[in-house]
Amino acid sequence: MRLRFRYVRDRSAIAHIWDYIKGRQDHALCGHGYEDPVELQTGERPRRVCRACQALMSQAEAVLWRKAAEEAIASKRKSGREYTSLSAEYEALWSEYEVYAVDYESLRTDYEDLYNQYEELRVDYDRLERKHETLRVHAENQRRMLAILQGKRAAKSPRDKSRKPISSPKTAVYAKAVDGSGGIGYDAKEA
Ligand SMILES: [Zn+2]
Repeated sequence: MRLRFRYVRDRSAIAHIWDYIKGRQDHALCGHGYEDPVELQTGERPRRVCRACQALMSQAEAVLWRKAAEEAIASKRKSGREYTSLSAEYEALWSEYEVYAVDYESLRTDYEDLYNQYEELRVDYDRLERKHETLRVHAENQRRMLAILQGKRAAKSPRDKSRKPISSPKTAVYAKAVDGSGGIGYDAKEA
């Protein structure tokens, strides 16, 4: 902080100091009312300066400096609090992140385990499917073979069975007819 003050001299012999504290245009720092004031250049110290103004100047400066220092301290405290608050927030976020990271790691491991299980099952399933296919083909072949065998047997047996029914009724009819006509026996005719 840099205080800028100017000496003001009016008709009186001694110079006063511009009221830079309260910013008054018509009164000096000490409260002296100007009469046609003449402003002097900054830094050019007149030979005679109002003692009251000088006393107030050092007093006012002390007040201003103290105020500035307090503001600086308050500002520092505020930034300190902001820093503390921010770092606490950061710490909280970091802890949260760590929890998530652990969860994520755990989930990732679970996922990998499940995936490995799935892979094993898939390999097993593929193997079973191949086995099933082999068995299916085998069963199909067996069925076909069985059908062929059954066909062969069916083709053989009907001839054996059909011979008797065909011949027997004829014989029977014949025998009956012969019997019906009377006299001649079935066995005798057949023999
Ligand atoms: Zn004065």
